[in-house]
Amino acid sequence: MRDFLLEEAKMMKYIESKARSVAEFYGYKEIMTPVVESYDLLATKAGEEVRLRMFAFKDLGGRMVALRPEFTPSIARVVATTLRNEPKPYRLFCLGSLYRYDEPQRGRYREFWQSDFELVGSDKPEADAEILMLTNSLMNGAGLKKCLFKVGHVGVLRGVLSEERLDDKVQSAVLQLMDKKQYEDAFGLVKDSGASERCLAVLRSLVELKGCNAFEVVGNVKKCVEGYEKAVVAAENLNRILKLVVESGCEIDTSVEAGFARGLEYYTGMIFEVYVPELDVALSGGGRYDKLVELFGGEPTPAVGVANGIDRIMLAMQEQKVIPKEAEEKRVVIIPIGDGTKAEALRISRELKNASIVVEFEVMGRKMAKALEDADRRNIGYAVIVGKKELDEGKVVLKDLKKREQTTLKIAKLAQAIKS
Ligand code: AMP
Repeated sequence: MRDFLLEEAKMMKYIESKARSVAEFYGYKEIMTPVVESYDLLATKAGEEVRLRMFAFKDLGGRMVALRPEFTPSIARVVATTLRNEPKPYRLFCLGSLYRYDEPQRGRYREFWQSDFELVGSDKPEADAEILMLTNSLMNGAGLKKCLFKVGHVGVLRGVLSEERLDDKVQSAVLQLMDKKQYEDAFGLVKDSGASERCLAVLRSLVELKGCNAFEVVGNVKKCVEGYEKAVVAAENLNRILKLVVESGCEIDTSVEAGFARGLEYYTGMIFEVYVPELDVALSGGGRYDKLVELFGGEPTPAVGVANGIDRIMLAMQEQKVIPKEAEEKRVVIIPIGDGTKAEALRISRELKNASIVVEFEVMGRKMAKALEDADRRNIGYAVIVGKKELDEGKVVLKDLKKREQTTLKIAKLAQAIKS
C-alpha cells in the first residue's frame, strides 16, 4: 500500500474528477458503500482469483469480514435491498479504494482505486453499448490515446459448455483457466467432464478467433458455434452491441476475442477490458452480469457495468506524458508586512477566496524576499503585498510573478485585476 504525494495525489484526484464528470453527463448517481463488508457477501460470486486474495479477518464481534476487493457485490446488495422498489433503470456510480492481496508490481497494488459505473435493470444491447461508450468518454477525458477495447462474450463459451451439460462450477473453472491463458488445462478439464470431440474442436477454434475487424470476427464466431444455440444467440448479441456503438459514431478501437474470459465469475454476457500500448495490464474491466442481484435475494435483475482502475489510468497518463488540463486557476500568496497589517491581510484573503481565487496566506512570518522566492518555487502566479503605507490609502501591491511586474491598486479592484 502506498502514499500518494503532491503531484501523484493531484493526478489521482484529477482522474477522479474526470470520472465524476462522466458520471454526471451520463446521469449516474453516486452511492457510497462500506470498505468492510461481510466475508460471505464478498466471497459469494467473486472468482477464485479474487476470493483467495481478500484481506479477511474476524472482527471483535466474531464476524468474518473482509476489506472490499471490488464494488459490485456491495452494489448488488444495495440493489437487492434498499433500492429494490425504485423504478429502473438505476445508473449508479462508486468511487473509492479496494484491497486485494496481489503480488505488488507495476500497476498491481494491494490498495488501489476504482471508479465503478453500473447500469442496472436493462438487458438491452443499448445498455451494454452505453457502458462501452461511457468508458471511452473517461479515457478521452483523461487525455489517453490509442486505447484498445478487448471485447468478448461469456455467453459464447458458456453456451457451448452448457449445451455439453457441464455444470456451472466446471464452466467457471474452465473460464478461469482460459482467463489465465492455460488453454491446455482448460481443454483437459472439458474433456474429463465428458464433453464431445466437436466441443473441444470448437473451443480450440474459438481461442484462435480474434482481431480488430470486429464484425468479421463475430461472424466467424457465429459460424464456428453453429448448432450450439445459446452460443449463437450470444454472438448475435455481441454483434448488436458493437453495431450500436459504431453506428452511433463513437470511435472505439476494438479487438474481438472469442476465447476471452474474465476472472470474476459473475459475468453472463458481453465482457471487455481496456488497454494502452504502453502497459500490459488492463486499465478497466467490465461486462454484463444478469444473475448477481438474484444471488443477494433480489428480483432477477439484468445489469452491466465497468470498473476503471484509477491508479492504472494514472500510470498510462504518465507513460503517454499527458499533462492534466487544470481548470484555469488563479493562485495568490498574501504577504503581510509587519504585525499591524495581518488582520487586514486576512480580511483581503477572505475577499479573494469569496471571489473564487485560491489564496495562500504567508503563515511562516518570513521576510518578503524569502516569501516571494518560495511562491516562485511553487509556481504561484501572484503575490499581494500588504504594507502599512499602501493600506493607509486603501491600497495594496499586486505582483505578477510570471511577468515580474507590479502595480499598486485599490483593494476594491484587486480581485478583478487578478482575474483579468
Ligand atoms: P477487476 O475488478 O479485476 O475487473 O479490475 C478492474 C480494474 O481495476 C482493472 O482493469 C484495473 O485497472 C484495476 N485493478 C484491479 N486489480 C488491481 C490491482 N491489484 N492494482 C491496481 N489496479 C487494479
